[in-house]
Amino acid sequence: MNPTPTREAALARLAAFLPAAGRHYAETRNADNGPAPDGRGNVSQLSPWLHAGLIGEREVLAAVLSQHSPRAAEKFTAEVFWRIYFKGYLEQRPEIWDDYRTGRNAAIAALQNIAGLGAAHDQAIEGRTGIEAFDVWARELAETGYLHNHARMWFASIWIFTLKLDWRLGADFFLKHLMDADAASNTQSWRWVAGLHTKGKNYLARADNIARYTAGRVGGPLTADGLAEDAEPLCELHDYARRRLELPAPASAVDLARPFALLLHDEAAHHAPLALPAAPALVIGASRPEARSPGGAAALTCGFTQGALASGMAEAAAAYGCPAAEWRAGEPLVPLLADAGIERIALPYIPTGWTRDALWPDLAPLATEGRLVTLLGELDRATWPLARAGFFGVAKAIDGLLAELGIGASA
Ligand SMILES: Cc1cc2nc3c(=O)[nH]c(=O)nc-3n(C[C@H](O)[C@H](O)[C@H](O)COP(=O)(O)OP(=O)(O)OC[C@H]3O[C@@H](n4cnc5c(N)ncnc54)[C@H](O)[C@@H]3O)c2cc1C
Repeated sequence: MNPTPTREAALARLAAFLPAAGRHYAETRNADNGPAPDGRGNVSQLSPWLHAGLIGEREVLAAVLSQHSPRAAEKFTAEVFWRIYFKGYLEQRPEIWDDYRTGRNAAIAALQNIAGLGAAHDQAIEGRTGIEAFDVWARELAETGYLHNHARMWFASIWIFTLKLDWRLGADFFLKHLMDADAASNTQSWRWVAGLHTKGKNYLARADNIARYTAGRVGGPLTADGLAEDAEPLCELHDYARRRLELPAPASAVDLARPFALLLHDEAAHHAPLALPAAPALVIGASRPEARSPGGAAALTCGFTQGALASGMAEAAAAYGCPAAEWRAGEPLVPLLADAGIERIALPYIPTGWTRDALWPDLAPLATEGRLVTLLGELDRATWPLARAGFFGVAKAIDGLLAELGIGASA
């Protein structure tokens, strides 16, 4: 997979996948057929574009439901809502991300200090453990920037329960390489596999299951000998209390009556999904992919992220007939605004994660001065409050949410 970081490429991929998004997806999505050409026709592979905001969940759902009945598209729709659920859950428990970062840093330090640990970690990330399936996925991730969902689950499970490595090092390895790297989906999926998200319920990879669902790969099914067959879920002392969501009010043309800048970032690189109520006088782009890990980000994923922002900035500037400027890491933002005579910024909501960590120290003073107008899509606004506990709270509301927001054929 080598996705082009443009909205045009995202829309083309969506169009190509649409016929498969109904029952075909439901019946075949669990198969990891490998990265060979056409190997992945059973899944959308839209995640890098979705994460970058080159395409939005709402338009993806609308397109799928225009071609398939809600029942036929049920599985695909639910997966898109998993993405929104994880975001809403983390917004209500941002300490999960803070603790992940602290724990990850300690685990990285331990690699130097505990004999044998660094070597075991290197074997895992370089695909030299001797467990064929795991080694294939480790290399595939580094080479392509993508892994099938089932492979991510098996990989994380083997990492934690067979290789007995710290889950935060595995999550960090994913963040460095995944083109769709996402603080909410990645951190909480690793926690889910470990038995920390749904407390006491871990996910154990099994060799027969791996062989069954990798049978379509060039070269045949992958083997996985010596997997832990019985392992207790991880546990933690901390119980993450839910904090009240403080969502921004919907932005109106009045909020943006004076000349304002639109700030595009790594999770909202394109203006089209934002439904901006007025035209900006300046487009600012801020890309910080290296902030995802102390080890930075791999060249492939960095290239996608920066390319997405560059194409988004160029297209927004052309659409609004205004200039575009890059806000580089370490540069102050205020002079950029002052030079253009701009007071306010329209800011697509930056969810908990490294993009927020990197940008917020400079944006916070502007927020205090009332100079930020935060944009949040209707789908997130309606769904996040339901992400209070397990996914079931969101799952049972999906039909109602789609109807309320006018998404789908029945609208
Ligand atoms: C350990 C682990 C780590 C993961 N890390 C990430 C990550 O960093 N970024 C990321 O976007 N997803 C992550 N996922 C979720 C999932 O694996 C990917 O979203 C999916 O594989 C992307 O491929 P696709 O676009 O072909 O998915 P499709 O099957 O075509 O699904 C359509 C869309 O639904 C969403 N989606 C599908 N499955 C999930 C899921 N289980 N959880 C959340 N959203 C989902 C994605 O946005 C995806 O693009 C992770 C899963 C696991 C088990």
